[in-house]
Amino acid sequence: MTFDLTPEQDQLRDAVRALGRRYGHGYFVEKAKAGEHTTELWAEAGRLGYLGVNIPTEYGGGGGGITELAIVCEELAAAGCPLLLLVVSPAIAATVLNRHGTEEQRKRHLPGLADGSQKIVFAITEPEAGSNFHRLGTVARRDGDDWVLNGRKCYISGVDEAGHVLVVARTEESGTGKLKPALFLVPTDAAGLTRSKLDMEIVSPENQFLLYLDDVRVPADALLGESLDAGLPALFAGLNPERITVAAMGAGTGRYAIERASEYTATRKVWGGRSIGSHQGVSHPLAHAAVQVELARLMIQKAATLYDAGRDLEAGVSGNMAKYAAGEAAALAVDTAVQVLGGAGMTTEYGVATLLGAVRAGRIAPVSREMILNFVAQHVLGQDKSY
Ligand SMILES: Cc1cc2nc3c(=O)[nH]c(=O)nc-3n(C[C@H](O)[C@H](O)[C@H](O)COP(=O)(O)OP(=O)(O)OC[C@H]3O[C@@H](n4cnc5c(N)ncnc54)[C@H](O)[C@@H]3O)c2cc1C
Repeated sequence: MTFDLTPEQDQLRDAVRALGRRYGHGYFVEKAKAGEHTTELWAEAGRLGYLGVNIPTEYGGGGGGITELAIVCEELAAAGCPLLLLVVSPAIAATVLNRHGTEEQRKRHLPGLADGSQKIVFAITEPEAGSNFHRLGTVARRDGDDWVLNGRKCYISGVDEAGHVLVVARTEESGTGKLKPALFLVPTDAAGLTRSKLDMEIVSPENQFLLYLDDVRVPADALLGESLDAGLPALFAGLNPERITVAAMGAGTGRYAIERASEYTATRKVWGGRSIGSHQGVSHPLAHAAVQVELARLMIQKAATLYDAGRDLEAGVSGNMAKYAAGEAAALAVDTAVQVLGGAGMTTEYGVATLLGAVRAGRIAPVSREMILNFVAQHVLGQDKSY
């Protein structure tokens, strides 16, 4: 057992940290408040190879795994730049394409994802189905060689920045009448695909959308994989990378908040010569949050290591636990940081209250804490399913 990163991973972490700090939380917030995207940071990270660390070298990537991508997510977040689209595009879309796409689809899309010139976002959530994807109502119907998609999706991140959206739909399996999921690479400018931006209480340069699919016609090769059978495994392939990288983003955000707060409490003096951090009512909550973040990081490391070793089932358990732990730790860390900063905690200048919405959302999305507890109760503790 080792808790050390390899020298290459160490170098990656230092380099991404340096890049993130060059931009910093001020840049992230400025972009969000101006309604703009972090285009410069994304482009530079892509040029330096950080967005494609988990993509095979033959498609222009770094040939690493989810461990490397988690490092990128965590370090950018630790610098105050938690980029959700890292979870959507390189983690989910690139993994799904690499593992279940056709060779033609890999060649067409992975190089652009690797250098950051292309983004593919992911659409599964629907207003009616919610957490229960078995109730998906978006339907794909065969029409000659084409597919025609109809349905509605909600909270879809980054549609305005992406060239394609990976849409999860259901198809009617001929013969049995059984419904099974299929994934489609739909161009974001496809006829019949419209969107409306949701107003979210999150300070973020990345946006969420309602998507309407009205007779969206795509060619046969928009279906991800060689056949309809690729759908279910492709859907599951995205889950572990999603959980691990979103957890890494949470852990990084927690580290960022604790660092901001500790710098402040170590120097702020309001009672004689003592720093407020010398009072345990201030330092213990911060120390407690630091312990929770560090525990989450350990679980992230375990999940990523298992995933990169091809141990998908075990990675599923650890990945869910890591996502749960990091979601809770990040929310605790940011809330604690706001508290110990006093009034400064609520200012934009000190850069922690700006993260309250994002960490709160991290306990709901991409999978809620309750659904993770359901997973653990059923798959680890052997409890019956209640739903
Ligand atoms: C910032 C943000 C970005 C997002 N980006 C994307 C994206 O890019 N693509 C995408 O497809 N989706 C995205 N989502 C959607 C997200 O994945 C869903 O919001 C999430 O899965 C929960 O689904 P829901 O909102 O429909 O909640 P519901 O399913 O309606 O659940 C509401 C509440 O009830 C609880 N609950 C539901 N069923 C059970 C049960 N059986 N047992 C116990 N508790 C239960 C849930 O945990 C939750 O707390 C995003 C959401 C947010 C907030």
